Amino acid sequence: MKAISVLGSTGSIGTQTLQIAEEFPEQFRVVALTAGRNLPLLVEQIQRHEPELVALADDSLLPELRQRLKHLAGDQKPAREPHLVGGAEGLNIAASWDTADLVVTGIVGCAGLLPTLAAIRAGKDLALANKETLIAAGPVVLPELKKSGSRLLPADSEHSAIFQCLQGTPWAENARLSTGVPTPGLRRIQLTASGGAFRDWDATALERATVADATSHPNWSMGRKITVDSATLMNKGLEVIEAHYLFGLDYDHIEIVIHPQSIIHSMIELADSSVLAQLGWPDMKLPILYCLSWPSRLETPWPRLDLTQVGQLTFRSPDTAKYPCMELAYAAGRAGGTMPAVLNAANEEAVAQFLEERIHFLDIPDVIEATCDKHKQELINHPQLDDVLAVDQWARTTVREKVRQGTSRTSALPAMAA
Ligand code: NDP
Repeated sequence: MKAISVLGSTGSIGTQTLQIAEEFPEQFRVVALTAGRNLPLLVEQIQRHEPELVALADDSLLPELRQRLKHLAGDQKPAREPHLVGGAEGLNIAASWDTADLVVTGIVGCAGLLPTLAAIRAGKDLALANKETLIAAGPVVLPELKKSGSRLLPADSEHSAIFQCLQGTPWAENARLSTGVPTPGLRRIQLTASGGAFRDWDATALERATVADATSHPNWSMGRKITVDSATLMNKGLEVIEAHYLFGLDYDHIEIVIHPQSIIHSMIELADSSVLAQLGWPDMKLPILYCLSWPSRLETPWPRLDLTQVGQLTFRSPDTAKYPCMELAYAAGRAGGTMPAVLNAANEEAVAQFLEERIHFLDIPDVIEATCDKHKQELINHPQLDDVLAVDQWARTTVREKVRQGTSRTSALPAMAA
């Protein structure tokens, strides 16, 4: 039985991980949970999974959590009281919890960086969903992985697909988990993208895009931030950087293909020009389960892929004019050093401002580009952790400042926040 710690248990990745744990009680037990602020759901999860430890990112809510647990009716109380901790230190404790074999990183954004590092330093294996960590701090995370021997299993469906395809190559033994170094025999990666909420919109129609439009994904059910990232295609741009760090290919050999059906989750081209793809219904439970069960596969009763039901698999090149975030991500990846951290933080802040209706959807790439441009003179080629944390804060402040000054589109917004 594998013991797992779930960081971000109240989010989309976290809840799906817990569903898997419930479905396979003989294989997995949950020993630690972390949440941000969602107490009702967290209490329910504590009742169902009876973890040894629970960490709350917002430690001002710890007294309320204690009260909620205390006032549960006798038959509703978990059999064992979890140890409760809070704040940044609490998240680190959950990430490095002694009894955990594997840590699922489902915290959204760069807030996941320090707990991920804590897990690596404790020698835990990771199911990496929190891509922002690797993108912002690849040059810091990769040497730490090497030092600790932790294994980084990709939970992102595209990287899971690549990882799964690599298991079928003659180089599997040294290719499958050697992050950051070129994977032998791997010539090209093709990351598939659904095209997000606006894939069927004309570029000119994006002037009318609202928060409700951008947060309605056609194929996947995910958290709000990543759903907006899918609409801008920044998510795919971030995944290009993630693939670079995970599989060691240079940016000229990592491509994006729009595949509206989201059935092929990504493809690899090998030295002999053979192309391998991994297919499945668009359901995050599959790549999460593979991280949990790797290197084995578990028998599931889940819906089986029927290609006759799908009918058609189609592909097209992404429209770079419609999706400028993609090019911004390639440029930041190629610049390297602290630039991906700036791109990532600027994007997180821009998306947060968009979700609060302080900027327009089309302002997102503009403010990110302005922030990355400003950083060019200050770029640090071989950053340490403190450098990453410092540029992360700088980029967020820079975006907020830009938003305060206003953009050409903000006056047209329906509900401008003060
Ligand atoms: P959600 O927004 O659904 O969940 C985020 C989780 O992180 C919640 O548990 C939330 O707690 C917690 N959280 C939020 N802010 C903080 C903070 N400052 N400190 C600690 N915890 C915090 O996100 P997703 O599950 O969609 O995404 C999680 C990660 O996985 C992201 O990095 C995303 O890119 C990646 N990913 C997600 C996919 C998906 O299908 N959802 C697919 C591939 C990758 P609370 O809600 O209690 O406040």
